Amino acid sequence: MEIRNLVCSFEGRTVVDDVSLSIEAGRVTCLLGPSGCGKSTTLRAIAGVEMQNSGEIYVDGKLICDTVFRVPPERRQIGLMFQDFALFPHLSVAENVAFGLKGTKEEKRARVEELLDKVHLLRYIDGYPHQLSGGEQQRVALARALAPRPRIMLMDEPFSGLDNRLRDGIRDETLAILKEEDAAVLLVTHEPEEAMRMADEIALMRRGKIVQQGAPYNVYTRPVDKAAVAFFSDVN
Ligand code: ADP
Ligand code: MG
Repeated sequence: MEIRNLVCSFEGRTVVDDVSLSIEAGRVTCLLGPSGCGKSTTLRAIAGVEMQNSGEIYVDGKLICDTVFRVPPERRQIGLMFQDFALFPHLSVAENVAFGLKGTKEEKRARVEELLDKVHLLRYIDGYPHQLSGGEQQRVALARALAPRPRIMLMDEPFSGLDNRLRDGIRDETLAILKEEDAAVLLVTHEPEEAMRMADEIALMRRGKIVQQGAPYNVYTRPVDKAAVAFFSDVN
């Protein structure tokens, strides 16, 4: 997927300012930056739930969105995962994962089982969200987002609601599953540590602009300016 010159503003204030970015299958690109810099707005524009002022988005070279033409969100083959993972409380784990699936009952069941097995929650297939811990719910949300085989996964601070103890394990597990599913992943985070752990590519964002982009090691060892040094200083 390629994003070209994306601009979004609210009441005349530009919060996403000429962002260009490409993300590839099988790779995790991290949009990293402090709170308020425009990460979530960028993600919402890509998902199609926020209108951009200008810019184009292409998938496999095909235009899916500009200021005139828009493929609706549900037809973008995009999976979404947010901090507030919001499983449907009245649906079972299996029904939650099957929610966006098409096909016969057997096909859906097979895909649900495959994914719940991957996230090690097959034993809860007929359970309900309230019976699961936060970390387990998060893994069900991952299974649900991946079930329809999205080409692109957009993840907005998906781990920030979890306690520290669980986070590293879930990050690693999530990463392994994303790689297996071969989605192009755009992961938003304000935590340098998370980007260093998960990204193949980091795009550092500040005040609506991407100020530096590259492999995590390069971005970390060759910060673009003093503000980038300060931002990364809490990684060890
Ligand atoms: P981040 O995800 O990096 O923390 P956001 O994209 O959520 O940043 O927000 C960027 C800026 O845009 C913030 O100043 C926020 O207050 C503002 N903003 C986001 N959504 C809206 C909106 N719907 N209306 C007005 N301002 C908004
Ligand atoms: Mg945000």
